[in-house]
Amino acid sequence: MTFRLRTRIAALYMAATGLLAAVVFIILYVVVHHSVYSHLDGDLEAESFEVHKGMVVLSDRFVFLNPAEWGEREHAQVEVNPTFLQVTDTAGAVLLRSSNLRHQRLAVEFRFREPAFFNTMLAASPVRQYQRPIESPTRRVLGYLSIAMPRQEADVVLSSLRVTLLVTFPLVLLVVFFTGRYIAGRSVAPVAAVTATAERITSSNLDERIPLPKNRDELYRLAVTLNQLLERLRDAVVHERQFTADASHELRTPLSAVRGTLEVLLRRPRSRRHYVEKIREAVGEVDRLSHLVEQLLTLARYERVDAIPAGESVDLGEAAASVIARMTPPAPAKRMAVRLVGLRGVRVKANPSMVQIMLENLLSNALKYSRAGSPVKVAATSADGRVICTVTDHGMGIGTEHLPHIFDRFYRADPARHSGIPGTGLGLAIVQRLAQLQGIGVSVTSTPGRGPTFTLTCPPAADLL
Ligand code: ADP
Repeated sequence: MTFRLRTRIAALYMAATGLLAAVVFIILYVVVHHSVYSHLDGDLEAESFEVHKGMVVLSDRFVFLNPAEWGEREHAQVEVNPTFLQVTDTAGAVLLRSSNLRHQRLAVEFRFREPAFFNTMLAASPVRQYQRPIESPTRRVLGYLSIAMPRQEADVVLSSLRVTLLVTFPLVLLVVFFTGRYIAGRSVAPVAAVTATAERITSSNLDERIPLPKNRDELYRLAVTLNQLLERLRDAVVHERQFTADASHELRTPLSAVRGTLEVLLRRPRSRRHYVEKIREAVGEVDRLSHLVEQLLTLARYERVDAIPAGESVDLGEAAASVIARMTPPAPAKRMAVRLVGLRGVRVKANPSMVQIMLENLLSNALKYSRAGSPVKVAATSADGRVICTVTDHGMGIGTEHLPHIFDRFYRADPARHSGIPGTGLGLAIVQRLAQLQGIGVSVTSTPGRGPTFTLTCPPAADLL
């Protein structure tokens, strides 16, 4: 992975640099080409000006004032920097030429009506030529003045520049590619470490962490984020394992109790009274078991959902009343003494059946953990635009050390104190999960011996508008 990534980075780097180098090289070549030729063209133009000055143009012909100039040194010599001159008539017949041309002639391009520069050959050597029409005062072309200079030097300069640039270009690309690959390799090396660690991590060694790179850059942040993710995953897995262990333990207890009871009954015949008593015990255990399974299913159903459909307007008074009407007191001896205060007409934004499950759990706890006939109050007020619903009882209360845990699954505060009070430790976990799904806050305060107050902070139904 790292190998491919660094090669790709290097290739992109090379492409960008290659483009830039190509543009720079082309500009360099064009500039040198232009300056070499403009130098040469300047000399040719100056020479033509001189020659033209020594010429008198009449209406139908032209004469040279000083033909001796054609014998000047630079026009006579061939070896060092010669200048070739030639005058032709309109048909191309040579009227006059410098002695260094000997019997050769310069090419005449009849297509040029104006003075022009062009490259051509003289014998086998390349020359730069300037051709200018000789015109009568009435602008009739009487002939052509051609001046040429060898362009070997310019060509040598340009061709060696071309070779240099063409050889340098791939070299630059190669150097850029390998340097880029090396730098990219070093930069992405920590990614390989991250991958190697991530590959080693399975659900059984979630304690392993990705080593943090030295520089506090993006890769450092990636490693930190992945470590935090692993932390959360480990917590979730531990939590899940704990839940499975607790659930199997809780399920096993009533099952073994039923099995024990039935085994005892099987061992030898008993009196009818004995059978009734033991079977009642077993039925009690089966009830406990089915309540537990029901709660586990409720929890499992809501654990899996991430969000619920938008809430509806729920009347808290109606919800509490229907819960109370449905509830069977936990023990026949306990009378219901639930008081509803300020609940009538109070509407919250929630899911109606979830609100009922929550109230049912809170109310059944309030009744379970308090003496028969002791008052339980469900009240509603509003604060900061939220509806505050409280459930208060005057039972045994919850010790401060237990408060942070009572919403945990299977947690039961001080079970010894509740001996005889049936429970699974799942009711409040369900309340908390449902509250979470509906955006409702849950909290509890308690003074030992005076009973706790559970508070639900709900969004008002007005939010639905
Ligand atoms: P349980 O099935 O044990 O009632 P819950 O999740 O409903 O499970 O409650 C968790 C624990 O919180 C209970 O075991 C109990 O110790 C404590 N608790 C909950 N409600 C009350 C209450 N109203 N008064 C005293 N203790 C309570």
